Amino acid sequence: MAVPLLDMKRQYDTIKDQVDSAVAKVLNHGWFILGPEVKELEKKIAGMCGVSSGVGVACGTDALLLSLDAAGVGPGDEVIVPDYSFFASAGVVSRLGARPVFVDIEADTYNIDPTKIKDAITPKTKAIMPVHLFGQIADMDPIMAIAKEHNLAVIEDAAQAIGSTYKNKQAGSIGDFGCFSFYPTKNLGAAGDGGMIVTNNADYTEKLLMLRMHGWKKKYFPEIIGYNSRLDSIQAAVLLVKLDYLKSWTEKRQEHANLYNKAFANSSIITPVVKDYSYHIYNQYTIAVGNRDELMSTLIDKKIGHDIYYPAPFHKLECYHDLEHKDGDFPISEKAAESVVSIPIYPELTQAEQEEVIEAVKSVSA
Ligand SMILES: *Cc1c(COP(=O)(O)O)cnc(C)c1O
Repeated sequence: MAVPLLDMKRQYDTIKDQVDSAVAKVLNHGWFILGPEVKELEKKIAGMCGVSSGVGVACGTDALLLSLDAAGVGPGDEVIVPDYSFFASAGVVSRLGARPVFVDIEADTYNIDPTKIKDAITPKTKAIMPVHLFGQIADMDPIMAIAKEHNLAVIEDAAQAIGSTYKNKQAGSIGDFGCFSFYPTKNLGAAGDGGMIVTNNADYTEKLLMLRMHGWKKKYFPEIIGYNSRLDSIQAAVLLVKLDYLKSWTEKRQEHANLYNKAFANSSIITPVVKDYSYHIYNQYTIAVGNRDELMSTLIDKKIGHDIYYPAPFHKLECYHDLEHKDGDFPISEKAAESVVSIPIYPELTQAEQEEVIEAVKSVSA
């Protein structure tokens, strides 16, 4: 039996009638961009996070980009980012003409190591961007303390972490900006691209609202240079339907994770470490093994979906050759890139499928 890494169709089948009628409603009213569904979603997600506002944008990458821009990041500035994440976390910094300053990760959570941030701060540092990788929030208290001490903005890359918490605080609600992605593979995924920024700061909200619409408040009279980065009403309509299921889907992911944890206990497989400050929402279930090539060829043979998130730390990417890093600069990130693999964890995964995954993994990494 083949087991896919993710199956969108299966999720759609469980909510088809609701999604179809929500989409039809938008097609009928015809307000396709930033329509009433977008406003409702912004309100609901801000409410869920316990902050004053949400700003719908075109994708998670833009959520990060507009947040950095609103925080005043520009040419000559430096922004601290973990060396290990999806590329967007670093790319947006460079896009604004600023320099991403990499910091190594914690070996157990794969999140930025707060104890290594201080050494990376210079007079040019403007912001810190912790990433809540795989659905577990970064260790935010020490990060916020450093940010306060050095007067830095904190932009949470919560693209993989909607609904996760840190000491009962929602991901995205702790820093100055919280950035979500609704890319289809995220825990709350649209039928296309989408993203949102949440913030408790009214000045930032005002700036973000301008930035997503060419930089104007008054139509055709921009005060600043902005973007065209808006959320579609059809995407918001789909997301509003799915938002009601997010909690139960998250719990399914956690059940699957618990089953994997038990199955892989007492083996050489390193399973996700959940910190006692965190509520992990498992956007990915990522294991680390010493014999990854062998494991992956078995998973390919047995048609079991898997992928490497991520195969290279930022400092080794060709596009960052100019930053003049060398091998060994961020050893924990390098080790992660060489040993991790993510396996199916989506809510609709059946027990029979999960047992098949477990058997295949254990046949190689006992
Ligand atoms: C998905 C993702 C993004 C980008 O979101 P898009 O909606 O694909 O632009 C940024 N950061 C992380 C960590 C992500 O996983």
